[in-house]
Amino acid sequence: MAELISPPEALPALEAWWGSLRQGPTVLPPAVVHRCSERLGSRDADVVIAGGTLGILLGAALARRGWRVILIERGILRGREQEWNTSRQELQVLLELELLTPTEWEAIQVTHYPSGRIGFGEGPTWWVEGVLNVGVDPVGLLEFLKQHFLDWGGQVREQTGFLSATVHPDGIRIQTTAGQLSAQLLVDAMGHRSPIVAQARQGQPPDSVCLVVGSCAQGLPDQPTGDLFYSFTPAQNGYQPFWEAFPARDGRTTYLFTYCDRDPRRPSLERLWQDYCRLLPAYQGAELAQIRWVRKLGGVFPAYRRSPLQLPGDRLLAVGDSSGSQSPLSFGGFGAMLRHLDRLQQGIHEALAQRQLDRAALALLQPYQPNLAVTWLFQKAMIPPLAEKNWDPNSINRLLSRVFEAMMAAGPQVVQPFLQDVVQLGGLAQALWGVMRRDPALVAALLPRLGLPELLAWAGHFGALGLYELLQRLADRPEATPQDYFWKRRREAWRYGCGRDHLS
Ligand SMILES: Cc1cc2nc3c(=O)[nH]c(=O)nc-3n(C[C@H](O)[C@H](O)[C@H](O)COP(=O)(O)OP(=O)(O)OC[C@H]3O[C@@H](n4cnc5c(N)ncnc54)[C@H](O)[C@@H]3O)c2cc1C
Repeated sequence: MAELISPPEALPALEAWWGSLRQGPTVLPPAVVHRCSERLGSRDADVVIAGGTLGILLGAALARRGWRVILIERGILRGREQEWNTSRQELQVLLELELLTPTEWEAIQVTHYPSGRIGFGEGPTWWVEGVLNVGVDPVGLLEFLKQHFLDWGGQVREQTGFLSATVHPDGIRIQTTAGQLSAQLLVDAMGHRSPIVAQARQGQPPDSVCLVVGSCAQGLPDQPTGDLFYSFTPAQNGYQPFWEAFPARDGRTTYLFTYCDRDPRRPSLERLWQDYCRLLPAYQGAELAQIRWVRKLGGVFPAYRRSPLQLPGDRLLAVGDSSGSQSPLSFGGFGAMLRHLDRLQQGIHEALAQRQLDRAALALLQPYQPNLAVTWLFQKAMIPPLAEKNWDPNSINRLLSRVFEAMMAAGPQVVQPFLQDVVQLGGLAQALWGVMRRDPALVAALLPRLGLPELLAWAGHFGALGLYELLQRLADRPEATPQDYFWKRRREAWRYGCGRDHLS
């Protein structure tokens, strides 16, 4: 995975990518999707999936339903060593879709811890259960899924890179480094740097990024708990440091992460790594000399307001990080895939069965989600202003303390979905009202900093969230049961878009 910085030479490559995102494109990305009006004739598969990390989850689900799936992976189909944190409740979908046996399902959960901490600066501390408290072993998960995928008739082509695709009226031809393949549908699971997405974005730079550095290390004091969202210092060096920590199979995982725009005064990954090493002893209570690095970690997560993205042709669908459909607040792409897996596999199944494979029909499988769009404002509020001389560097911690005070007062039914990237209308309204009541001066100082265009855009998304809540309630009535492809996708868009898919 490109985002991990063990071995150490991966850091300069990641830094160079962050540099290029900051700068914007110097040349337009090459077109890799073309069109041809001639018919293709016979096809090698129903679906080709390019990219195996999260692609195998969908591949297994489709192969299990009897579709002929070929998965191409430019490397080896193998999970990374570093665990993904999620919850048992989110993992349940793997059992429900029968992608894993109960024994395999238990075996991939290699760590559990009881509760995670939330706290900001001098503010109060809270403990939350059932969020990011399970560490999943990606190596084991992908091994089990690959085996089932092959048993269900799927084909894996490793060391086979996607090069380009040509869309025909009756199929799509895929040019790979190992020859040609043809299918009804191409699923792009090639991550943030997908060449198909690069073509669709036409070099558009991200609106913001989340930068992460961290490690899995030994020699830190044993702690049975985690940190979900924590900070203990004010904003510094043009950014606000946040921390996450998880008990891990090989030691303890700690991340320093932050939100940035593309201003050159925002930190480099090298700067973040230096600050991480400087602050880690105070954070975890261990001398740097005592720490043994098991692996060093890092990531750059670009976020685009223009999401979901229109892909450049029929018969194309993006999933996972390439789809840009995850929250701009979290880098939990595995969690986002689990959340949408059932909806996606069912939607693709119906699209194939009913031949709804044009651009408009497939776009409904990655719909606008107002409950994610409203979180852009939170992200903006967590980026320190660079121009304001008298800005208080403790104000982000103060704001977050107030937001969580309000959410905690509203109860776990508000906090838990929020921490799992599912914002709901009632919870959001309660949190905002709670902050305004508790600290009107803080809100009054924040609003001009956010600016009118940002606030108007947010109001639009908030209105859409309310509308989606209403539509999903109307559509949920027993008499509203038409079953056609378009109607079902719209219903799902309303349900997921207002966070009513959350299980709690
Ligand atoms: C440090 C770190 C910690 C994280 N922790 C968590 C966590 O705790 N919980 C969580 O939910 N998420 C977490 N994430 C996010 C999660 O890892 C990603 O969201 C997830 O890996 C995205 O998977 P993907 O398959 O969409 O993209 P990627 O992981 O980027 O995988 C893309 C795949 O496509 C392949 N590929 C690329 N180009 C081609 C090509 N041309 N042809 C064929 N194949 C190609 C690649 O080899 C790769 O296998 C973390 C990420 C990082 C960096």
